[in-house]
Amino acid sequence: MIRLEDIQKSYFMGTQAIPVLKGITLDIFKNEYVALMGPSGSGKSTLMNILGCLDSPTGGRYILNGKDVSKMVDDDLAEVRNTEIGFVFQQFNLLPRLTAAENVALPLIYAGVSKKERIERSMEALHKVGLAERSHHKSNELSGGQIQRVAIARALVNNPSLLLADEPTGNLDTKTSVEVMEIFGKIQEAGNTVVLVTHEEDIANYAHRVVRLRDGLVETDTQKSSWQMGAGK
Ligand code: ADP
Ligand code: MG
Repeated sequence: MIRLEDIQKSYFMGTQAIPVLKGITLDIFKNEYVALMGPSGSGKSTLMNILGCLDSPTGGRYILNGKDVSKMVDDDLAEVRNTEIGFVFQQFNLLPRLTAAENVALPLIYAGVSKKERIERSMEALHKVGLAERSHHKSNELSGGQIQRVAIARALVNNPSLLLADEPTGNLDTKTSVEVMEIFGKIQEAGNTVVLVTHEEDIANYAHRVVRLRDGLVETDTQKSSWQMGAGK
């Protein structure tokens, strides 16, 4: 589903290029559940932003579902982002004046979906994260874990094939983190491909494969027993 070939990313400070990703080569298969780990500053978020088509690499190729997205810009890249990718951030990024259902429906407004269908699809997504009964609540009436589940529902509402999450449990306590990880597990079991960043080993244990970055390169890539290609539902 994902092929990264020698992905490079430099940030430019004035005329000086600062290399952050120094040649990442990685394949991720459909329905895999991958944890991305590594020290702070190793390039995890930079790589996630490229995977999520929020940013483009400065070198190498990124093939997503058969399309070379590394050369795409602006509207084409936005189209891929809006139709194929769901993104969950550490900061929950919910709009506090809106209810859970209204927050979940936001991407559908941008996609021009009718109101009736928006309501149906946002309820369906909230149902997937076990929060259908909280649909009319605003963020100040929800716990941190519930807010993150709303953010996951919002990321799922467009039925993306790829769900990305950058430190989704970074602001949650251990018990709540486990709840959130169980939801990612269910989403993967339902057929999605999940890639998430964490710096907690306990959290990474929920994934089937752990890729560690160090200084802009893949340091280790460890497949665990419980997932085999083609075994997904
Ligand atoms: P991680 O998520 O693993 O902590 P990041 O991908 O956020 O790492 O950052 C990797 C390196 O790139 C860091 O040294 C960081 O300071 C630098 N960096 C990240 N984003 C930018 C940016 N927009 N402009 C310049 N440097 C950046
Ligand atoms: Mg980061």
